[in-house]
Amino acid sequence: MSELTFELNEEQQLLREEVRRFAVERIRPGTAERDKNHEFPKDIIAEMAEMGLLGMMVPEAYDGAEMDVLTYAIAVEELATVCPSVAVTMSVTNSVCCWPIQEFGSDEVKEAVLPELAAGGAIGGFGLTEPGSGSDAGSMKTVARLEGDEWVIDGEKAWITNGAYGKYFVVLARTSPGKGTQGISAIVVPSDAPGFRVGGSEEKMGLKASNTTALYFDSCRVPASYLLGEEGKGFRIAMATLDHSRVGIAAQSVGIHQRALELAVSYAKERVQFGVPIAKHQAIQFKIASMATELAAARTLTYYAASRGHSPEAGRLASQAKLYASEAANRACWEALQIHGGNGFCEDYEIARLYRDVRITTIYEGTSEMQRMVIARHLTR
Ligand SMILES: Cc1cc2nc3c(=O)[nH]c(=O)nc-3n(C[C@H](O)[C@H](O)[C@H](O)COP(=O)(O)OP(=O)(O)OC[C@H]3O[C@@H](n4cnc5c(N)ncnc54)[C@H](O)[C@@H]3O)c2cc1C
Repeated sequence: MSELTFELNEEQQLLREEVRRFAVERIRPGTAERDKNHEFPKDIIAEMAEMGLLGMMVPEAYDGAEMDVLTYAIAVEELATVCPSVAVTMSVTNSVCCWPIQEFGSDEVKEAVLPELAAGGAIGGFGLTEPGSGSDAGSMKTVARLEGDEWVIDGEKAWITNGAYGKYFVVLARTSPGKGTQGISAIVVPSDAPGFRVGGSEEKMGLKASNTTALYFDSCRVPASYLLGEEGKGFRIAMATLDHSRVGIAAQSVGIHQRALELAVSYAKERVQFGVPIAKHQAIQFKIASMATELAAARTLTYYAASRGHSPEAGRLASQAKLYASEAANRACWEALQIHGGNGFCEDYEIARLYRDVRITTIYEGTSEMQRMVIARHLTR
């Protein structure tokens, strides 16, 4: 069932086996309960930190595992097969928090925060979206000004994954008003910075064991050296970060799709109607065949995009992988629930949770519409 469609090296295969074992033995037993109680998986996160899964691509010099993007994507996929909430908690820390800090941070900020994120049990987040600016992120209103050797930030961010539990956030703020996206900068904000405040947890339809909150900045002060890259280059840093991170959402989608297929096949073989298991009916067989074929295509595209690392084409490939894998996973969950009939509409069956969890994959880190715009822009420039 978990047919491989890409050649993996030994390290990647071993990592896959290790994460799969961990996910099945340590995460799966509590997945349904945490979903029901909207409970953040604190203990699981602590164990993942010990396994090196929170700083997978962080250089060893900063206590990271220094693994490649494909190995990271495989880990996200395995976690998502068992619990998409855990997968997004982990992927956000790795890709939209650690990665821009390791790529664009000063030595001071890297030394101050990366070892804690990579191996110290801390998790992080990324603050781009605001109540009035989602897809049009460049119209953000949050501002920051330099006062002496500190940045002073004022404004608000919305929908921030890991908001209440994150220790460090990469926050985008306008440092030169009137300069459009050229006036936006990226700044690392520790959660204990004066003037930093977290909003209440959002009541989401899915990913209920992940945490999503607003963040507020009331003259929030952080050291000047916590700026990433140069002043005014923050929007480019944010776009480069998303180019890189979308492969993680593609991998999350592949993991959910894999599980939806497994559940559909298993249910179709057990459920008898008209004297035979429903798997014998051609209409059901065709659904399963399409789900499996789209899964192989989504996984191959995702692994291919991940294997391009940070090359110039990697951004477009990651958008294509995210677009295809997320829409395919949504179709798969829809069909898998259909195969479950009325039982699929009941929370006693895992497919009901997957159907809710998968819905966000075509929305966050850029909607499907935005991915199509990014891909077309690459091809027509
Ligand atoms: C669970 C969850 C976790 C999230 N985590 C984070 C996080 O950690 N950090 C963060 O910064 N953000 C986060 N987000 C925000 C997420 O990235 C945004 O919701 C997403 O980018 C879409 O923005 P929006 O919701 O404002 O929708 P809008 O931008 O208002 O879009 C609404 C609809 O209009 C469409 N649309 C908009 N503009 C165009 C256009 N030009 N052409 C065609 N269609 C268009 C969109 O595709 C969409 O279908 C999260 C959101 C959720 C729900």
